[in-house]
Amino acid sequence: MQKKLGRNTVVLLGIGHTNAHVLRKWKMKPLENAELVCVSNFPTSTYSGMLPGVLSGQYPPEEMEIDLVRLCASAGVRLILDEVVGVDPVEQQLLFRNRPSLAYDALSIGVGSVPTFGDVEIADDNPLISVKPMQTFLSRLRDRLEAFGEDRNPRVAVVGGGIGSIEIALCLDQRMKTNPSSLGLGSGKQCEICLITGGDRVGAGLLESTRDKIESHFQRRGINAIAGSRVAEVTPSGLILKNGATQAADIVIWATSAVAPPILKALSLESDERGFVLTKSTLQSLSSDQIFAVGDSGTIQNQGLVKAGVYAVRQGPFLWDNIRRLLENRKPVSYVPQTGFLKLINTADGHAIGEYKNRSFQGRWCWALKNRIDLKFMKMYQDYSPMEMGGAEASADSEELMRCLGCGGKIGSKLLGEVLKELEVPTHEDVIIGLENPDDAAVIRTHGDQVTVTTDFFASPMDDPYLVGQIALLNSASDCCVMGAQPTSALAIVQLPLGHPRAQLQVMRELMAGSVAELKKMNATIVGGHSIEGPRLTAGFTVLGRQLTDPKTKGMLKEGDLLVSTKPLGTGVLLAALMQGMLPGRSYLPLVNTMLLSNYIAIRLIQDYQISAITDVTGFGMAGHLAEMLKASGKSATIRMDQVRLLPGCQTLIDAGIESTLAPDNRLVSDKVQFIGDVASPANAALFDPQTSGGLLFGIAETRLAEVMGFLGDEGFGETCVVGEVTPNPAGTSALTVIH
Ligand SMILES: Cc1cc2nc3c(=O)[nH]c(=O)nc-3n(C[C@H](O)[C@H](O)[C@H](O)COP(=O)(O)OP(=O)(O)OC[C@H]3O[C@@H](n4cnc5c(N)ncnc54)[C@H](O)[C@@H]3O)c2cc1C
Repeated sequence: MQKKLGRNTVVLLGIGHTNAHVLRKWKMKPLENAELVCVSNFPTSTYSGMLPGVLSGQYPPEEMEIDLVRLCASAGVRLILDEVVGVDPVEQQLLFRNRPSLAYDALSIGVGSVPTFGDVEIADDNPLISVKPMQTFLSRLRDRLEAFGEDRNPRVAVVGGGIGSIEIALCLDQRMKTNPSSLGLGSGKQCEICLITGGDRVGAGLLESTRDKIESHFQRRGINAIAGSRVAEVTPSGLILKNGATQAADIVIWATSAVAPPILKALSLESDERGFVLTKSTLQSLSSDQIFAVGDSGTIQNQGLVKAGVYAVRQGPFLWDNIRRLLENRKPVSYVPQTGFLKLINTADGHAIGEYKNRSFQGRWCWALKNRIDLKFMKMYQDYSPMEMGGAEASADSEELMRCLGCGGKIGSKLLGEVLKELEVPTHEDVIIGLENPDDAAVIRTHGDQVTVTTDFFASPMDDPYLVGQIALLNSASDCCVMGAQPTSALAIVQLPLGHPRAQLQVMRELMAGSVAELKKMNATIVGGHSIEGPRLTAGFTVLGRQLTDPKTKGMLKEGDLLVSTKPLGTGVLLAALMQGMLPGRSYLPLVNTMLLSNYIAIRLIQDYQISAITDVTGFGMAGHLAEMLKASGKSATIRMDQVRLLPGCQTLIDAGIESTLAPDNRLVSDKVQFIGDVASPANAALFDPQTSGGLLFGIAETRLAEVMGFLGDEGFGETCVVGEVTPNPAGTSALTVIH
């Protein structure tokens, strides 16, 4: 979204129960003159209160997830999915493993906790599944159950004894008794479940009457509760307890009490004996007033609170208030925890057990209450509709929302072609490949050497300058590589968003770091450029290259060639969805990862694999770029849609009506070739989707195919596929036929 960069930066590390509140409040009313950046290790955040209900099958997985990609996009907030390795409280910088540091004025750490293993010995080939990270818990459990090949029921030991482990045992039991195959277990099997706790009975910290109720549920359902001894060893075949007893187990679910995740140790802030960051009652770290530690990650000095989601949730409004107070130089307020809270345990059979203060209860109404509380809580975080704005700003911005950026912001090929036709572009003896026979890049002669030159830029559809720097560079350099030229140097063209110079500096630093990181991988360098400020981040590069070999120009396709595409299609659709807050979190990393795959390998393809002709698929979509090749080669082609790979979620978004603003223009491919197929069909839409840092498209003889596929697979292009073949052109007009 178009906005001015603010002076201050608020960074949320880990979007758990407390930090999510700040994100939600920001979406409702962002702080003036400030930026919010969310840093997470997953594109979704999981609500632990509903994890057992998802395990039992009472809810679909999406119900317990906050989609951070969608929430951040809809709030106009930057999301970084990357690994944090430290913090510099003096310089106020958050440090990453793979990208430049991020300056903050307020940092809130809410990365939760992990179950403790203490002094437990763990064999290499062990059956452990930790409940954290919760985002992957169910898929890891499913993998184990699917892989269980023995002719008996799998034995599952849940280690813990607190509310979380009790719910996991009960909810897994219910799922296994009602629908085991839906969690990957072979038909006719169930799990034999036991719960192991070091306490005297299950339910440490709960009222005795509540523990009675839990035990009676366990007995009735055949869940064996083994109390009184901690686990000493996890072996390949199960557990050895400290009292010497053994427990055979095929799967061990670890849900013990909380200790600090390793990242907290790396931050080197003053901490308690379990590694959690020590804070004042204002939630500010003892080491720095600019750093807050919240939820499980923080321990308020001298308060002795247990680690529980309810405290994390209640801290949200205090954190939001204190961040604002910090930025406004006002005195922070103290968080005052509630003295007790309602505990509700999902037994997964339509009932729940509960306790409040000194009373214990159970029944269907308890489950109804828990269900209502949990759904209401999650609803607050699952509103992904775009942030509301008023007046003129709103209409300007909604219009802006409609225009696609990235290569989807490219001007249509027709417009460009018409302008060039009108101009009498002079010829020059040193132009070897120019506008007379346009290709991916121009080749000119200087002092007798051939130099390849290309330029490209786009308005950024993403909020992360480091990624934008990487992608813009790869996108520009690709044109050079597909001409068989080694990139040597680049000039940057940057438009920085308007705003505070300090924030502009941070954007520029990250953008250039991203592009230089990619240039280094190509053994090239940056030699200059030009930057201005304007309404939004726009970045691109002019790349110069040394021609290493004769180019495999677009016009060199041969009859019978197989057409090979190295990346899945759909970046235009997914980026359009991202800008509208519609891109599901699970599609985000595949999108980013495909754009970050470097087309530098085109040089090797040209030099070593005898390909016929090659191009990269960018703004005009696969159909448009293939049409250019066919026209220049005087050939036709067939595309088999069932062979064309799409990014995850792409077809669903197309079917929901999402497309790039350039797609309609790209459908005018019939200006270039005869298109035999339904241009308007959603089933063909991906062919017209403009790609940002798209894949390579090349022709190769069938005899060379296996070799080239092996090479591309080794280089990380595992999605490479044959999409069609080149056919003769007896009618004299090139045709592109799409087959389903
Ligand atoms: C099965 C189970 C059920 C539970 N049920 C309840 C209950 O009913 N009631 C209750 O009060 N408590 C419950 N708890 C405890 C509760 O889950 C925690 O107290 C609560 O989640 C703490 O919230 P948080 O925001 O501190 O951390 P979390 O909710 O764990 O959120 C931390 C976030 O930080 C992210 N993160 C982690 N590491 C990094 C990193 N290095 N970089 C970036 N991001 C990172 C994580 O992906 C996550 O999104 C339960 C716990 C379990 C295991």
